[in-house]
Amino acid sequence: MKDIKNWIRPDLLDLKPYSSARDEFEGEASIYLDANENPFENGVNRYPDPYQLKLKNKLAEIKGIQVNELLLGNGSDECIDLLFRLFCVPGKDFAASIAPSYGMYQVSAKLNQIPLKEITLNDDFTLDTAKVLNESKGAKLLFICSPNNPSGNAFELSVIEEIAQKFEGILVVDEAYVDFSDKGSVVRLIQQYPNLAISQTLSKAYGMAGIRLGLLIANPSMIQWLNKIKPPYNINQLTQSFALEQLNKLDEINAQIQYLVNERKRLLDDLKTVNCIVKIYPSDANFILVKVNNANEIYQSLIQQGIVVRNRSTQVLCENTLRLTIGTKEENDKLIVALKQF
Ligand SMILES: *Cc1c(COP(=O)(O)O)cnc(C)c1O
Repeated sequence: MKDIKNWIRPDLLDLKPYSSARDEFEGEASIYLDANENPFENGVNRYPDPYQLKLKNKLAEIKGIQVNELLLGNGSDECIDLLFRLFCVPGKDFAASIAPSYGMYQVSAKLNQIPLKEITLNDDFTLDTAKVLNESKGAKLLFICSPNNPSGNAFELSVIEEIAQKFEGILVVDEAYVDFSDKGSVVRLIQQYPNLAISQTLSKAYGMAGIRLGLLIANPSMIQWLNKIKPPYNINQLTQSFALEQLNKLDEINAQIQYLVNERKRLLDDLKTVNCIVKIYPSDANFILVKVNNANEIYQSLIQQGIVVRNRSTQVLCENTLRLTIGTKEENDKLIVALKQF
C-alpha cells in the first residue's frame, strides 16, 4: 500500500502541531488550572475535547468504521479546505472535479491558490470514467460528488472504485446525500485505498445543518495527518453535545429519511403532470433537478408566491434548470400547485 507521505505537501512533513492544554493532559482531575479558562461553571466554560471522542465513538458505530478512520469538521466545508491545505502546494499543484457539481470545491481551491479543472459530465449527467481519469491526470485532488449536487444522480460504486484504483492523487468522494440513495456508500473501500477520502455531513439527512458538523472518513494514516493540521478545537462543545443527543434518536432520523424518499417518488410522478417542465432528472438525493421552458421567469414568480427554489441555470449542462428540495408533503403540494400555473 502506498504511503500517504507520497501525497502530502513536502513542506508540511516536518510540521510540529500546536499542542493544546487538552492534548498535554487527558483524563480526569479535580482542579483544572492548565488552560486559562474561567472556573465558573456555565456548561461551556471549558474547552471542548479536541478529538471529539465521545461523538466519534457514536458516529463510528453508526457508520461501521473505526474512530481512527474519522475526522470531524466545522461542516464539510472545513474538511474540504483541510484536504487542499494538506495535499496541494499553493501556486504549484492543481485539483479536479466533475462538473456540474458542488460550488465549494471551486471556492476552496481558489482560496488555497489551486486551479480547479472541471471535467464535464455526459449530457445526462452520467460519468465517462475514461474521460475523468484522463483529464484528471496530474491532479493532486479529484472531487466526485455522489449523489451529485445539482444533478441528483449517484454513480455506480464500481465506477468510483475503478477511479480510486487508477487515479494517482487523492480521490475525494462527497457523499453528502448518501443516506437518500439505494446505491450505498464507498466507505468500505478506505481500507484498500489509502488515497480515498469520503466526505459526509449531518447537514442533510440527519437534520442538523445548523450545528455545522461534517465527517471525513479515510484510512487512519490520512486522518492522523489531518488531525495534525486542523484547528485544535474546531468542533465546539454545543455542537458535540447536541449531535450526540440527536444521534440517540436514529429511529426518528430514519423515519424522516424514509418520508423524504417517499415524497421524492411521489414528486417525481406529480412533476410529470406539470406543463412547464420539459425534463425531470432521476434523483438519488433529497432534491430533484428539472428543466423548464423559462427558469428565470418561473424562479422569480415562485418567489412572489413565497416559494424559494434554486435556479441552477448558470451551471454547465444546466441551462433552464431549477433544483427543488423535497419538503414536507404540504410544502411539496404547494410547489406543484404553483408550478402548474405556468
Ligand atoms: C450540502 C452539501 C454539503 C454539506 O456541507 P456542510 O458544510 O457539511 O453543511 C457537502 N457537499 C455537498 C455536495 C452538499 O450539497
